[in-house]
Amino acid sequence: MEHTTQARKVPEKRACCECGKGFDITDPHRQHSKRFCCDAHAQAFANRQTTRGKVMAAATLAWRGKRGGGEVGKAALAELCAMADQFNDEDRKAKRPPVADYFASLAGQGYRFVDRQRRSGNAKAA
Ligand SMILES: [Zn+2]
Repeated sequence: MEHTTQARKVPEKRACCECGKGFDITDPHRQHSKRFCCDAHAQAFANRQTTRGKVMAAATLAWRGKRGGGEVGKAALAELCAMADQFNDEDRKAKRPPVADYFASLAGQGYRFVDRQRRSGNAKAA
């Protein structure tokens, strides 16, 4: 399909990753990154992810560090699953879209954390 300036002006409809409400993306420069209907919802999503990430980080690193084996690796995975189940349940009860939709959006654009680290120069050379 040929891309033209005129084609980019047509608003694209998306569902907000926080509230699920549909919204139009009219700015062609933000079409690939905009996932929220407003700044307040983007901030609410980010704050919740930060809070959840802090409590999941140690268990994630322990699980991966032990390659899922041994008492610590197995306990870490069990804790991770319990936390993930609780957080997904909280989202369902709050009628928020599944975080899996947000992740799929990132993955669909080829986004990977390690790639962002390389671009910013934060990754250490192997
Ligand atoms: Zn929203």
